[in-house]
Amino acid sequence: MRIILATHNKGKIREFREAFTELGWEAVPISEIADLPDPEETGATFEENALQKARAYAAAVGEPVLSDDSGIIADALGDRPGIYSARYAGTHGDDEANNRKLIRDLAPYTGDERKGRYVCVVALVWPDGRAVTAEGTCEGIIRDFYAGTGGFGYDPLFFLPQFGKTMAEISLEEKNSISHRGRALRALIAKLKTETI
Ligand code: IMP
Repeated sequence: MRIILATHNKGKIREFREAFTELGWEAVPISEIADLPDPEETGATFEENALQKARAYAAAVGEPVLSDDSGIIADALGDRPGIYSARYAGTHGDDEANNRKLIRDLAPYTGDERKGRYVCVVALVWPDGRAVTAEGTCEGIIRDFYAGTGGFGYDPLFFLPQFGKTMAEISLEEKNSISHRGRALRALIAKLKTETI
């Protein structure tokens, strides 16, 4: 069995590949088999976006495709940044501007009001329309100052009480063991092992 990974992120590719060796499945990045534009993300939820991306690529390449959609949610801000995490400050992927905006928006809040979570939904879609999704979350406190140089995105602000460190201060192995993406991926693998899709 071979699946196509709908991501260009090297870290995610390694993580996804490793996870699927457990099932004996080969996982190949989309860039190795096709040169396709990124599909639109117009969904209202992480799941809709992940499914939309996987469906578009599965139709284009005629093979099963795995995609993910993720982001950070601050309790005090409702569902925000949420599905808009990558472009929270306006420009897609400007981590520094996104972090500054999150610090600004959370400035009135203290203590438990600064709780939040990372969320990730992974979707595996076959060209015939079959689909399976799984979600993972990771709880933390969103601080108003930076610590650590690892990870990416909001990680230097995202404090993990169980480690006494931010997501940017722990090792990659530690991050994979507790992260929203790691959890979503393990939940997906568990479903694939036990359910008939
Ligand atoms: P995507 O699902 O890879 O497009 O990620 C969406 C956005 O959510 C990223 O650009 C980051 O801003 C944020 N994000 C998702 N996962 C993480 C993470 O593990 N650490 C930090 N930021 C993340």
